Amino acid sequence: MENKKVIVVGAGPSGITACIYLKRAGFDPYLIESSMPGGKISSTYKVDNYPGFDSISGADLAFKMMDQLQKNGIEIHFETVLEVKKDNDLIFVKTDVEEYLSQALIIATGTKEKSLGILGEEEFLHKGISFCAVCDGGFFKNKPMAIIGGGNSALEEALYLENIAKPLYLIHRRKEFRGDQILIDELEKNENVKILTPYIPIRFLGEDKLTSIVLENVETKEQLTIDISGAFEYVGASPNTSFIEDKEILDEKGYIKVNSKMETAVKGIYAAGDVTVKELRQIVTASNDGAIAAINVSSYLKK
Ligand SMILES: Cc1cc2nc3c(=O)[nH]c(=O)nc-3n(C[C@H](O)[C@H](O)[C@H](O)COP(=O)(O)OP(=O)(O)OC[C@H]3O[C@@H](n4cnc5c(N)ncnc54)[C@H](O)[C@@H]3O)c2cc1C
Repeated sequence: MENKKVIVVGAGPSGITACIYLKRAGFDPYLIESSMPGGKISSTYKVDNYPGFDSISGADLAFKMMDQLQKNGIEIHFETVLEVKKDNDLIFVKTDVEEYLSQALIIATGTKEKSLGILGEEEFLHKGISFCAVCDGGFFKNKPMAIIGGGNSALEEALYLENIAKPLYLIHRRKEFRGDQILIDELEKNENVKILTPYIPIRFLGEDKLTSIVLENVETKEQLTIDISGAFEYVGASPNTSFIEDKEILDEKGYIKVNSKMETAVKGIYAAGDVTVKELRQIVTASNDGAIAAINVSSYLKK
């Protein structure tokens, strides 16, 4: 068992910001990341709403954040957190590599994409169905593809695929999209983008690989089968919090409840970013939370 002063779990924008602020406050945060440093942005096509950059690819922004971590002397430890619980006055953190006792902990583990849960989905996952257009869209270049969803994530990734797919179907269960109007306007201008609303996917079809999707019109119940080689699902997300033992710090959907200092109900455990109960899940708000959590962890530890 190793002792740490402060552990940060998750190297997305919130965890990275927390580490930069902690370091500048004189601490050496132990940063744990289970997969891709940079978090969700490392697989995002482009970011047009982060101050200081008119437009930057998600991968480039993630790289700049990692570079800044490195310049601040912060190392990323590639481990997966499996359990977190209070242990007397300390926090017990178990990973697939080691067990730790820490004085403070910032949980910045973000969310994972939800799936549709329809027929054929499991069968054709990674055989045409994916949750990352930027990672997998290129495999189906010049072939028909579909984006499923109506929020900003779906619309942004549709913009990435709009000229790679031939054509691109944008499928949403409501007539109105939830995402930003500027993105909708852009997509509507492109004749290669076929918008299908209000449709819900009811089944994926294929043999060894995905070949088509069956849709149902929400209003008329009329069914429609379209040929596609790739389908990208952006139908919401759920929080990465299954490793938390103290379930009272979670809301009914599993998001972490925090106050304005990013403190949870368990002393010494803080949370930041998409994993918390909040209104807007974006890079700026994730970084905002990370900074606030770090400043308050810093005063907590100095006491
Ligand atoms: C397709 C798409 C496009 C987007 N476009 C934009 C945009 O243009 N502008 C914008 O502002 N926002 C955008 N967002 C939202 C933005 O990416 C998120 O709000 C932001 O990344 C949240 O940061 P975070 O640090 O809270 O979480 P994340 O970025 O999700 O990072 C969490 C990290 O924790 C790690 N982790 C999870 N569980 C564990 C564990 N058990 N142990 C160790 N590590 C773990 C994950 O691997 C991940 O690296 C987009 C999101 C998507 C999905």
